[in-house]
Formats: sequence, C-alpha cells, structure tokens
Amino acid sequence: MIARCVLDRLVGQKKAAGYLKKSVREGTIAHAYLFVGPPGTGKKSAAKAFACAIMCGDDGCGACSACNRIKKGVHPDVQVWEPEGTASYLLDEQIRPLIRDIQLAPVESSRKVYVLAQADLMSDSTANAFLKTLEEPPPGVTIILLAPHFESVLPTIASRCMVVRFSQIAPQTAEAILAEKTGAAPEEAKAALAATGGVLARAVEFLDSSSRREARVRILAILKDLPVYDGFDVLKASKDLLTLVNAPLEEVKIAQAAEVKEREEIFGKSKGKALEIRHKRELTARERESVGEVLSITESWLRDCLALSQHLDDMVVNIDVIDAMYEVAAVITPPAANRALAAVREARRRISYNVSSQMAIDAMLFDIREVLLCPRS
Ligand SMILES: [Zn+2]
Repeated sequence: MIARCVLDRLVGQKKAAGYLKKSVREGTIAHAYLFVGPPGTGKKSAAKAFACAIMCGDDGCGACSACNRIKKGVHPDVQVWEPEGTASYLLDEQIRPLIRDIQLAPVESSRKVYVLAQADLMSDSTANAFLKTLEEPPPGVTIILLAPHFESVLPTIASRCMVVRFSQIAPQTAEAILAEKTGAAPEEAKAALAATGGVLARAVEFLDSSSRREARVRILAILKDLPVYDGFDVLKASKDLLTLVNAPLEEVKIAQAAEVKEREEIFGKSKGKALEIRHKRELTARERESVGEVLSITESWLRDCLALSQHLDDMVVNIDVIDAMYEVAAVITPPAANRALAAVREARRRISYNVSSQMAIDAMLFDIREVLLCPRS
C-alpha cells in the first residue's frame, strides 16, 4: 500500500514528496503551502498529487474516481487557478471570486484544495485582498501557491505559508530518472523532455500517451515536408495538427459537461454556470500546454538541424528523424536557422497575448517554410 501513493510517483523530488506524504498520513496538513522551484521541477504535478493524497481516502491511490477526476481537472473540490493572460492575477475578476469560492462548503467531501499557479504574479493589492483568506481559510481548505523562487513572492504572502522546496534537476539526471521510471530508451526520454519543455512530470505523461507521441511524429513529418507544401497544404497540415493535439481534451470536455449537468440538477442553473466558467479556464490552460508541446518539438527539431550543421551531432535530440535533419543541416546557415527559431518564439509570444493557437501555428509554419525554401540566405 505504501508504494502506491501518487506522491511516490513524483520524479526527482523525493524530499518534497516525502514531506507532503508524511503530513497527510499524520493528519498535519497545513492550510497554506508555498511550493517553490524553477519551471520544470514538477510543482503543479506535486500539488495535484498532494490533492489526491488529501482527497482520496485511500492514501492517494491514483486510480479511484476522486484521484482520476483530480488528474483530469474536473474534481469539484480541487481547483487550479492561473493568472489571466501573462501579467498578473486580476483583483475583481479572479481574486475576489476566488475568495468567495473558498468560503463555500465542499461539494462532495469534507475538504477542498486550491492550487494557485504563478503566485509570484500577485500584485500588492491582490495580495492584500487575499491575505486574510490565506491566513484563515475555512476548516478543511488547503491553499497551495506555486512560484519559481521564494524571493519572487511578496513577503506578506510567503510568511503565511508552509514552504516546500523543489530542486532543479540537471538535464542528464532528468533523462536518467525518466528512462528509469518509465522504461523508455534514453533517446525517447530525451525527446519527451524536449517536447515538454523539460518538465519531468509532463514528460512521464507524454511517454504514457500514444496520441501525444503520435502528434510528435506528425509535427516532425510536417517540418520535413514543409518545403514541398503549397499554401493550402500548410493550412491543412496546421489545422489537422491542432485537431490531433487537442484530441485528448475531448474526453475532458465530456467529463466537464457531465459534471455541469450534475451540478445544475443538484444546485440549480447559476452554480452550473459558475462551474462552466471554471472549466473553460482549465480547458484553455490545457490547450495552451498542448500547443506549447507543438512549439517545443518544432524548436528542438530546428535546434537539432542547427547543431548538425555545425557538426555537433552529440547534441541532437530527435535521433529518430536524424536522416531528414541531415538533409536540412547540409544546406541551412546559422542565420537562417535562427530566423526559423525566431518564428517559434513569435508564435509563443502571440499565444501568450491570446492570439488563436491556429493563427499562431499557421504563421509559424509559413515562416519556417520560407526559411527552408531559401536555407542558405
Ligand atoms: Zn484515490
């Protein structure tokens, strides 16, 4: 039973996971935590696993209805909040509704868990409005704040939380841990980490998901064929690609719709509406993650081509498509490769400013095609 807890499956963060598991088993769960660690150290996955351990009733089994719904982001008593857009948490649109929500009784259990990503993006005024709730939430509520560094969080916020540190994992260690945990070959582990921006927990999910691995293969095929595509082909490939990467979200949508229906039947239309808004936010965050994978894979392919052109073969990530990359590397100049990489960064920027993912990917593929058509310039 001991090895089954989802917290034990967190990769590379034994100390943090051990501490959290102990607090659940000993019944010493605090009302507020601050998880600090650089991006990619698995804070959000740890927060979700901790929520499972708190809510499950079977030591965070990872398989029961509660655990499954927490993983999918559709458990009514476990909520993940993110800042809207890129700048900051919004006081009236986010923090005040959050404070009201925290005061409500749990829907189906005796506890509630709130995860606030990027707590470093709280301004003085939002933090001030939130302080009292953070200090004294209703019984049974646990609030978990996530931030890259302890120093990046306002001291008034940080001082009210139990701090849990997540340490940086060196890329080679991450690859080794991933290969050991999943049984993947070293090159598969490397490609999975490249696809997920180096986030170990997401790399584990990536290796576990046939549809996400299929999407990677599709992206790499598109990049190879881009120079022979006409405009229509580019748009079609881009559209098909997004359909493919968003396919796993269909299951989430179905689960969400069922939850809204159930909530409406028990509590009425207005409660259903509030839930719908929350679901929409969660879905947007997941869509961004999926599109982020498309961008990361594209970026790693371009970097590989650049590395091969400089005869740095050891640095190559996407070894399974090395032959196709050799062809590009034979002709591409560093300035041309950098222009293509700039197109990826531009797509990332556009998406962060709420441009539709489809438009951002369309534009990126057109820009990369242009570079691949004149790779020596
Ligand atoms: Zn469970």
